[in-house]
Formats: sequence, structure tokens, C-alpha cells
Amino acid sequence: MDRILIIEDEEKIARFIELELVHEGYEIEKAMDGRDGLEKIKTRPFDLILLDVMLPGINGIEVLRRVRQTSNVPIILLTARDSVIDKVTGLDAGADDYVTKPFAIEELLARVRTTLRKKKSVRNTELTFGKCQLNITLRTCTVSGTDIELTKKEFDLLQLLMENKNHVLTREVLLEKIWGYEFDGTTNAVDVYIRHLRQKIEEPFQLRLITAVRGVGYVIKDE
Ligand code: CA
Repeated sequence: MDRILIIEDEEKIARFIELELVHEGYEIEKAMDGRDGLEKIKTRPFDLILLDVMLPGINGIEVLRRVRQTSNVPIILLTARDSVIDKVTGLDAGADDYVTKPFAIEELLARVRTTLRKKKSVRNTELTFGKCQLNITLRTCTVSGTDIELTKKEFDLLQLLMENKNHVLTREVLLEKIWGYEFDGTTNAVDVYIRHLRQKIEEPFQLRLITAVRGVGYVIKDE
């Protein structure tokens, strides 16, 4: 059962949303303000958070920022009608979606379903090797929990190696798959990109993830 936290200071609205979501089979907790919400998030994991922007004390955008420092839990903002700034700021700060007040409950329920479904499909697009995790949909990379910024080609290269775990990929194959027609004729490019990757995902963590196979290519393999 998916657990949803509603952070909303207007009790009538919070109660209304709660009843509808419980009816749909979700498990609900409520928080009346940002501080209470942050406390609840710290103590238990949620599958989704409905977050009102206009909250007393710590406002919704600030709550969102604080949550995002440690968590990727899906968050749908409840914004005031016509408040473009809230929406833009909210999405920039990492909200997954927003619903404008006053909203039809059907719309909110649809957003909740879509966001939860997205979260679940994202879960299936993760590649893991040791301490290294790639999310193919979000194109994010973490090593030992640290976010690593990769260029497009670095990411593609790492993804290809992880998808072909325990299979050596030759320089020629890597070139063809990653560079395709852009390929300018030097297999050296692969080594250069592998070196960049190592500097980002191995050296800072004193890890060895990619193994060079002399004269052939590269592989990511289990010990
Ligand atoms: Ca409010």
C-alpha cells in the first residue's frame, strides 16, 4: 500500500483529500505545517508527498528544498491559482508535478496515480554495479550515494558497460555504439573517455569498477 503524506494547513482541504485518498486505498498521514511535515518525513518513508505551497512558518517551497537535500520522494505541489512563480520555482526546486487550487479531486487523483506509476517505472530503469548506480530514465549516476555529473558520452559509455556486465566490449564496438557516425577515426577516444570516467567514478572513491583488457577493450565484471 502506498503511503502518502499531506502537508496542508487548511484542515478542511487536508481532510477532504485524505478521505478521497483513503477511499482509493492509500495510507495517509497529515501534517499541518512545514516543520511538522519535515519531522514526519524524517521518521518514516513515504511514497509520495502532497505539499501545499502557502504554509505558515516554513513555506512549501522551502520544505521542498530541504526534502530534496536528502530524498527523491515524489512531491506534488498544491499551488495557488495563477501563481506562475510558485510553479516555476517549485519545479526548479525539484517538485514532480503541481496541482492548482482549487482543483477537481479527480485531477488530483490522476496526478497522484501518474506520479506513483512514474516512480515505479523509474525503479526498473536502474542499473547497479557494486557502489555505482545508474538511473537510465533520469540519467543520473551515483557512487557510494554521491551524485556524479557525467557528460552524455560518459554516461552512455558507462551504461553500455554496465548493461554488458561480464562481457568485454572492444574499442571498436564502443566507438560504434557511442560515437556512431561522429567517429573521427581514432580508437583513442575510448581510452580518453574511460580515463574521464575513472576520474569521476573511481578515483574519488578509491574503487576499481572498469577493467581494461589489454589490446581489446573494457569490461565491468564481478570479482
Ligand atoms: Ca495553505
